[in-house]
Amino acid sequence: MDAASRTDSGTRIGPRRSRTPRVATAIAVAAVLLTPTLAACSSAGLDESAEPLGDEVAAARPAEDETDVEEVELEVEVEEPTFAPVAGGVEATTSGPHAFNDLSADGVTPISYDPCQPIPYVVRPDGAPAEGDQLIDEALAMIVAATGLTFVDEGATDEAPSLDERELYQYDRYGDRVAPVLIVWSNGDEAPELGSDDGGESETLGYAYSDAVYATDDDSDTAPMVYATGEVVLDAPDLQWELDEGEGYEYVRAVIAHELAHLVGLDHVEDTGELMNPMIDGLVQFGPGDLQGLSTLGRGVCYPAA
Ligand SMILES: [Zn+2]
Repeated sequence: MDAASRTDSGTRIGPRRSRTPRVATAIAVAAVLLTPTLAACSSAGLDESAEPLGDEVAAARPAEDETDVEEVELEVEVEEPTFAPVAGGVEATTSGPHAFNDLSADGVTPISYDPCQPIPYVVRPDGAPAEGDQLIDEALAMIVAATGLTFVDEGATDEAPSLDERELYQYDRYGDRVAPVLIVWSNGDEAPELGSDDGGESETLGYAYSDAVYATDDDSDTAPMVYATGEVVLDAPDLQWELDEGEGYEYVRAVIAHELAHLVGLDHVEDTGELMNPMIDGLVQFGPGDLQGLSTLGRGVCYPAA
């Protein structure tokens, strides 16, 4: 089957989902990013939860001197949403066509993951090719090299692809925190977005998106947003076919890298010299515009370390 006849649907879901901020969730995410101890207490807003915490600590130490009180005040100050400078990231050495999934309110700056926070991910291995883990590792390495973002492998999950909006919090599965990025080997029967595996002229090999949430307790129209988690859905039967009879290992790795690039914020471009062309025609590495875009996505805003 001609590689050029294959496509994917990487951005059909992304913009719609990531532009659907949920205020309560967003504030809770801000708490996770800023102060995990508060996030575990409640889903209340930062301001509401920060002050009672300070009061409780102060009240518990009525006999202690002013030094302790000052320390408490400092802790509360850290909870205020202040922004660190842009992280080091990976400097772009090439330039070319690239596009972003979502732009911030300024209309220029792409929404990205916090480059100062590792991105946890889990993999559902059901039906994966034998080389599945290695393919994902190598494709992730391509993203890391191009962005400077860091990922943390949290092992296997049994979470299925989301057919509707993925729950950001899945307490039974992942505990009291935002769910990690899900990489899931699936098929057209389970994930209709992948289409039928009928060998037709256009096969969808995968798709990916990330959910953007408010980065702070500011939920105004111009509030800063950040990706909190996301999902990469890979068509296991199609990609197995590519490994066995189609374009081969490097091509499949390129498909996964393409989807991971969607995950971190890149959109499609028409230029056939870029891996973010929806057809992924013969390329096995990122092109000059891909690398420029990925560099930008790896140099987003940092939030205060927890
Ligand atoms: Zn795509």
